[in-house]
This record gives sequence, structure tokens and C-alpha cells, in this order.
Amino acid sequence: MMPAGTDPARAFDRPPVPWKANAALVGTAVIILLMLSLVAYTQWEMRQEAWLRAEQTSQNVLRTVAAHIDTQAQVIGFALDVTANGIAAMDGRNAQPDEAHDLVSDIARKAGLVGVVLVLDADGSVRVDSAQHPPRTANLATQDYFSVHRGNPASDDYLSQPVFFEHDKGEPSFVLSRRLTSPDGAFRGVIVLGIPLRFVADILRSVELGPDGNIMLISSKGIIYSESKGARWGGTGTDLSSTALFQILTSRPEGMFVDKNQRPANLVSFAHVGGTEMILAATMSVESILIDWWRRMAIIGVLSLVVCAALAVFAVLLHRELLRRVAAEARLGQLSITDGLTGLANRRHFDERLRLEWRRAARTGAPLALLFIDADHFKALNDEFGHAKGDEVLKSVAGCIAVSIRRPGDLAARFGGEEFAVILPDTGPEAALGLAQTIRARIEDLSFAGVPRPVTVSIGIKAMRPAPDIAVSTLLEAADKALYQAKAAGRNRAILAD
Ligand code: GH3
Ligand code: MG
Ligand code: MG
Repeated sequence: MMPAGTDPARAFDRPPVPWKANAALVGTAVIILLMLSLVAYTQWEMRQEAWLRAEQTSQNVLRTVAAHIDTQAQVIGFALDVTANGIAAMDGRNAQPDEAHDLVSDIARKAGLVGVVLVLDADGSVRVDSAQHPPRTANLATQDYFSVHRGNPASDDYLSQPVFFEHDKGEPSFVLSRRLTSPDGAFRGVIVLGIPLRFVADILRSVELGPDGNIMLISSKGIIYSESKGARWGGTGTDLSSTALFQILTSRPEGMFVDKNQRPANLVSFAHVGGTEMILAATMSVESILIDWWRRMAIIGVLSLVVCAALAVFAVLLHRELLRRVAAEARLGQLSITDGLTGLANRRHFDERLRLEWRRAARTGAPLALLFIDADHFKALNDEFGHAKGDEVLKSVAGCIAVSIRRPGDLAARFGGEEFAVILPDTGPEAALGLAQTIRARIEDLSFAGVPRPVTVSIGIKAMRPAPDIAVSTLLEAADKALYQAKAAGRNRAILAD
């Protein structure tokens, strides 16, 4: 057996990974990267769009509600004018009290948000009541909307905080009030317009702001008067005055921001309602804004990951297949130049390489050496110990030759039968002879089970400097002749031709 690591075929290195196989991997990786970038980019765009849409919706809703409230404020203002003028005119001509009742109940019915109209006398007692005639028995002198007018002849119309009227089923109302002044300037009472909060809540609820959207009407002091999410009249009375949210709401007339203090975070847009000091704020949870986007991203994300995974698997399979093919081709190529029994180069390969080295040496002027190695009395060995033993010996002899040559350019070949040849480029006669002796001695040292005598070889050597005008056969013939001389001289020796 040959020593480990001395495979005669060591000249045939593992083939390099072909660039096509690597290109398949790199190309697929690039495609996957591009695809994922594209998906990421479009997803980012879609997220931006969803966000922009939410901002626009929120702002539109806010504007619509603000405009609605503004219109209603004008209607209420008009109702107040009509009531004030009507009462003043009736007082001037001492009209019947039921006439005043008819007027105010008509106004309460027709003026949108107005729930009840009361006329208070200078003591604060109800003297005209839109809801009933005769009027309810009540004195409202302690209410701020009364005292604010009584004390101040120049008082403007006054909008109160939400208050509860008796008989109003426990629902709070804003009160818009105006001082009644006689022609001589004396205080004659107050006109009171009750605006039920429920009517305001109805306005807040009239617009659509998504499943968890909320619209709040907040007082200048930070109390939530009404919100679209609130129960019935929408009031919660929640006090926001100490929150960071309220600070932002009061810091500027209108704006939009993401309130991360809430769980979940909210997109808040707000605007101050003209003339009332109240603030309208619309909130939408960030979650609800992005839910559709998330859903779409999940589907597209999963699909693109599946496609990428499939591409990657395909690329890996292709890569493996290409490697396998290249390896198979290399193996075939190797087989086509290898001797089947010994694993050395075959005769064809030897011929090619010898011509090649001859030409190269002729070009460079370097010496070239050739060994012809022939087993001695091999026919007798075959006859005596069988063909199988002969084969075993040939393999070992080939192994000895293979381990003896060291340079990358050296080539050992089976020339035919029990004959071997070694090409030694860049090698002079002494070095070639030395190597031949090494080979000869190594083979002589071999021992084979059942073969009592050593196996020997004879070696013919020729080293020369090739030239373009000399045929390669010169080298072959000279080495062959030297081999013949070695045989003739008694075998088991190496002879260097002149
Ligand atoms: P010499 O010392 O003069 O070289 O004598 P020899 O017997 O070695 O020379 P000869 O040319 O007469 O015989 C060569 C023998 O080598 C003949 C053949 O049986 C044997 N041989 C050739 N190829 C193989 C092979 O592949 N396997 C085996 N076992 N024997 C082979
Ligand atoms: Mg022979
Ligand atoms: Mg022989």
C-alpha cells in the first residue's frame, strides 16, 4: 500500500468553486436584498400615506365641527337679540305675560341649540318661561349669570359654565345671558338661554372619526364639557387642567401632535372655538390609524419573505448542483488522464506533458530530464505469484515513484505494462540520477507477502537541454537506450545516458 498522503493523483487538485456557482448565490442575495428594500420602501410610503390621511381626516372633522358650532353660536346670538328686543317692546306696551311666553317658546323651539328661554326679573325670579306658563317658581339670583349682569350695567353677553336647571331631567346646559336694562338705565332683569350640552354632544357625534376617535369640547379651564364618546349628553366633567395635554392645547390657537402619554398613543388635533374660549380637540389612536397598514404589511411581509426564502432555497440548490457538476466534470477529466491501476498519469497525458515541457524548456533553455523505469523479470513474477500479485506490486512501485518526486512540475506516468516514466523539468543529470537512485532503492526495500525476493527496477535516465531543432524523440530514445543498458548490465540499477 502507498503511504498516506502520497496519492499519485495528487497533481489533480480539488477543482476551484466555479464563478457561476458563486454568481448564483451572490445574484440571488442581491435580488433578495433589492426585493426587501423595495417592499420596505413601499411599506414606508404606505405608512406615510395612512398617517397623512389620518391627519387630514382629523383636521377636516375638527373644522366641520367648529364651523357647525360657530353657525349655531350665531343662531343663538340672533335668538338672544330677538328675545331681548321682543321683551323690551312688550314691556314698553305692558303686554300680557302669555304673549311673552308665546314669543320665547317659539324661539326655544326654532333656534337650533336653544333648549329653554327664561326671562328673570330684577330679583332673579323667573317671570317668563319658554317651557311653561305660568312660569316655574324659581329664583336664580344666586347664579353667576345673574349676578354678573346685576352688578355691571355695561356687562356683555355672558356664557356660563354648564349648569343644571330644575325640570331639565338632570341634564346640564350652558347659559347664555344678557342684561335687560330699562330706558333710564336701571337693571330690569336677565334673559337666559339654556343650551343643553346634549345638543352640543349631538354635533360632536355627527361626524365620523374612526372606531376609537373622540371629539372633545373643553372649557378654557380644562374641564371636558362634552365628548362624542361620552354617555348621553357627553359630559364627563373630567378635569384636564393639570395635564401636559391641556398645556399644549392652551399654548396655541390650533395644532396637531402625537400624545404619547396616553395608552395607546393618540394623534390629537385641536382648535380654539372662536369667541367662546372653548377648545375643540379630536383624538385618534395611533393604533387605529395604522391598523390597516399593519394588516397589509403583515400579508405583504409574509409573502415577500416566503418568496425570498424560496429564492434562497432555489439559489442554494442551484449552487450545489453547479458544484456537483463541476466536481463530476473534474472527476471525468481526471479519469481521462489517469491510469486505472496505479493512479499515475496515463500514457496519453505523459505524451502531452512531455511535448509541453520539451517546448517550454526549448524556449527557456532549461534542462529537462526523463526517467524510464522498468520492473525486472516481471514476467517471471507474474508467472510465479499470479497476475493479482503482479498488480499489487505495480501499484506499490507506482507509489514509490509518486512519493519520490517532489516538485510541482514533475510528472510520474505509467508508460505501459510494467514500465513507468518520470518527467523532470528544470532538472540536470546529477539531480535526475539522484532521484532515480532514490526510487530504485525505495522499490528494492518493498516487501510483499508471499514473495520471498525483493522486487527491483532498472532505470534509464536522460537529461538534456532541448532546442527547437531537436525532436523530443531524441530524449525518449536516449532514456530508452540507457534503460536497455541498465538491463544489460545486470538490472536493479540506474544508468545516466551521455
Ligand atoms: P525484464 O527484466 O527484461 O524487463 O523482464 P520482464 O519480464 O519484466 O519483461 P517482459 O517485457 O518480458 O515482460 C513484461 C511483463 O509484464 C509481461 C506482462 O505479463 C507483465 N505485465 C505487463 N502489464 C501488466 C499488468 O498490468 N499487470 C501485471 N500483473 N503484469 C503485467
Ligand atoms: Mg518491459
Ligand atoms: Mg520488465
